[in-house]
Amino acid sequence: MDARSTNWGFNSENGRCHYNASPGLYVHVPFCRSRCTYCDFHVAAMRPTVMVDYIEALKSEIDQVANSGFIPKTIFIGGGTPSALPQEQWIQLLEALAESFSDSLVEWTIEANPESINPQKIKAALQAGVDRFSTGAQTFSEKGLSLMGRRHNAQRVVEVHRWFEELGVPRTSLDIIVGWPGQDLESIDNDLAAVERIDPDHISLYHLSYESGTWLHAMRERGGLKPLLDDTCIKFSNAFLSGLRLQGYRRYEVSNLEKRGGVSWHNLNYWQRGEYWGIGSGAASFIEGQRWKNKPDVGAYIAAGGSPERIDLEKSGELDIVVELIMLQLRLSSGLDLNHFRNLTKHQFKDLCKGSLRNFTEKGFLTEEAGYVRATQRGFDVLDSMILQFVEDAEKRLNART
Ligand code: SF4
Repeated sequence: MDARSTNWGFNSENGRCHYNASPGLYVHVPFCRSRCTYCDFHVAAMRPTVMVDYIEALKSEIDQVANSGFIPKTIFIGGGTPSALPQEQWIQLLEALAESFSDSLVEWTIEANPESINPQKIKAALQAGVDRFSTGAQTFSEKGLSLMGRRHNAQRVVEVHRWFEELGVPRTSLDIIVGWPGQDLESIDNDLAAVERIDPDHISLYHLSYESGTWLHAMRERGGLKPLLDDTCIKFSNAFLSGLRLQGYRRYEVSNLEKRGGVSWHNLNYWQRGEYWGIGSGAASFIEGQRWKNKPDVGAYIAAGGSPERIDLEKSGELDIVVELIMLQLRLSSGLDLNHFRNLTKHQFKDLCKGSLRNFTEKGFLTEEAGYVRATQRGFDVLDSMILQFVEDAEKRLNART
């Protein structure tokens, strides 16, 4: 059986699945031609010699991870802009990964930005074994693209997806952002119509956020732009979600929707608190209860020849596991698995968070069925504050014992 041809027991009615996609391998390619106005990721300028040296160092880290016996079920190459690599480095990276890991994979995703992906790169990726492309469209409004500092136009996204179809890319995902200043319901209808034409099997739908250090944040502080009100953002996001639902998409995570069984197995593994190994400058890992991050410094990464300094090392303690399960699993439409929570933490979620659980359930933000506590549609609108409250409850309860 072709391991990649099934949906692995994913039940799109309740968002639950029986397949465990752990562990995953994340590969960070940090280069971008310019910084988008909302972006606070670890990115670096595109200098040709640096990109060549970086891929050499990445290949060395790939070898080390493979030699350690690590066998990933999924690969996700993200950034930055992986598709901005020159063709030669693009092929070198894909071949190195295929050589070390292709036998075990059920999914291999690569992020592509519309302005830098082309048919040659798509063909090389398919040949290496990539079966999923995730494209940063963000919106199909030229005004929105310009405000967010994106380097492509709407037509280019359509063209890229025509190549995907013609070249036989099995699975595709689109990133969309809602809530940018100046957005209106008409532009949401326009984005929805474009999504319907392209018909990807996965959508990631994010709210625009104003992270400290970004151009958008600085402009807002200076009064140079007027952000949409929170209520308007929620209204727009819900309008988008309703439109996607009518197109047959199902929300399986607060910001992610699928159709035709198109869940992102790699990302689902994160939300299920599965293990993953991150390689490249700034990449994060979680293996055997231990978390760490490669130091986010491209120069140091290259100098270390792919044996980067690890920072932020920490072993998950009792409270960490409780907090992580609450923060991750309540994002899923399937919700928090009460048995799994008890087995892993030796605590009952319903005891730790009793008061808030009752309060949120009475307000219609949460529901419980078949051993899962999950956010309702209205609950997803206030998910961050619910999670915060649960975490506070759990901390108080656990600290009170000591
Ligand atoms: S392309 Fe992605 S990683 Fe690069 S600056 Fe824009 S949002 Fe950030």
